[in-house]
Amino acid sequence: MDVTFMRTFVADAKASRLPADLRPAQMQPLARLPLFFAVQGKRVVIAGDTPAAAWKAEVMSAGGAAVDVYAQEPCEELRDLARTPPDGNIVIHLRGWMPEDLAGASLAIGGFDHDDDARRFVDAARATGVPVNVIDKPAFCDFSFGAIVNRSPLVIGISTDGGAPVFAQAIRAKIEGLLPAGLARWAQAAARWRDAVKSSGLSFGGRRKVWQLFTANAMTQPNRAPQEGDLIDLIDRVRGIGPAADAGTVTLVGAGPGDPELLTLRAVRALQSADVILFDDLVSQEVLDFARREARKILVGKTGHGPACKQSDINALMVKLAREGRRVLRLKGGDPLVFARATEEIDACHAAGVPVTIVPGITAAQGAASELGVPLTGRGRTRRVQYVTAHAKDGCLPDLDWRSLADPTATTAIYMPRGNIAALVEKIIVAGLAPDTPAAAVVNATRDSRKSIVTTVRELPSAVASFCSEGPLLVLIGEIVNAEQASDRMAVTRRKPAS
Ligand code: SAH
Repeated sequence: MDVTFMRTFVADAKASRLPADLRPAQMQPLARLPLFFAVQGKRVVIAGDTPAAAWKAEVMSAGGAAVDVYAQEPCEELRDLARTPPDGNIVIHLRGWMPEDLAGASLAIGGFDHDDDARRFVDAARATGVPVNVIDKPAFCDFSFGAIVNRSPLVIGISTDGGAPVFAQAIRAKIEGLLPAGLARWAQAAARWRDAVKSSGLSFGGRRKVWQLFTANAMTQPNRAPQEGDLIDLIDRVRGIGPAADAGTVTLVGAGPGDPELLTLRAVRALQSADVILFDDLVSQEVLDFARREARKILVGKTGHGPACKQSDINALMVKLAREGRRVLRLKGGDPLVFARATEEIDACHAAGVPVTIVPGITAAQGAASELGVPLTGRGRTRRVQYVTAHAKDGCLPDLDWRSLADPTATTAIYMPRGNIAALVEKIIVAGLAPDTPAAAVVNATRDSRKSIVTTVRELPSAVASFCSEGPLLVLIGEIVNAEQASDRMAVTRRKPAS
């Protein structure tokens, strides 16, 4: 996984930090550069008489090239193809290639059994400045042919750097299955309508909205052929929205507990359309990888213990960016409405007249419970689930309803327990909870670095202290958090209750 995103922040002596832009990750080394070469009307030379050469000729003709094939004894496939080329003309010259044939060619492709023949062809092509490919001999190639998914004008090329063509074909089959054939017609319509949208008189934001609605239509009804009426309808709809099409928005999005597989589809879509992402420390890199590469990503972290961005700074930044017309995504760990200061952020947006929408996420308690394999409720036994935090504004234990926490028919999820767990346990035991009530602590739930321990309430403080000092930690307490029932799946450590 890419870890080159740099999490930089400015910390001052009072351990506060300022929102800080992430420098986008540099691209990882590329085995092959995917370029989409326009060969329409260009001359392409193919030296070879085999079915493999015929296939290259077919691809080149499909791309619109004028193909000159040099073949002393062309195979049947080549002869057929020359009679009915898919697009560009194919001319077969019944002789071997000569260096002069390469003059003026855009690309050269050769099929040779022997390396010496291949080398002569490659040298001649390079001397003439023509990029060259030798079929099935990657060492001689300036460029290679990927597997193709053709929804022209939408074209997808797949390369494994010549390493595993069978693998590339399997990937191709998968993508073929994902992309309905009808998408080609939508891509054609997009190309056809581009100028009309440009000259529609709509603002930049309006035009962007047209393409968003267009894309939503294409994705939801790919096999319906788009009609010219669709374009008129789209432009009318966006005209109806008026200046709001240019207005910025704020979306509070739950990133879930860490595993990107736990993002909702809506969260992924929001990530892929946001202009700016303000994210917390809790948000994992794998989740951020779903954002558009060009989106600005700003860390506005608060860790509870370490340096923190001020909530007022976060609110002000969020509102400022939205007022500039940006689609701001406020990305929070877990669910954005659980211990996430959502009230302040929603209020700040409302006060500034900025529209806010909310995309829920899987909260840490759900992630932790699934990790442990324990339900949070149990018929007849555990009728209530309560989420509490052990960390008040001043860092002390908040004044909780201790009787509720001592309820033996409830499951309690304790967020931010580190630091105050001993004091909390003392209070709930005094309030009447049996000290041998099962309890679990889970750190980094749903992440690769996950760890958990199942113990009893009495043992919880020492278990937490010995167990892990880093990463987000969640505690679950209740009859249902039973060591016997906790799943072995996640390397749960069990402590024998003290006798
Ligand atoms: N909005 C978040 C909670 C934010 S408060 C949510 O719905 O989950 C931060 C606390 O959440 C952490 O201190 C920890 O108690 C808990 N938490 C978040 N992610 C977690 C994870 N992957 N594993 C364990 N606890 C987590």
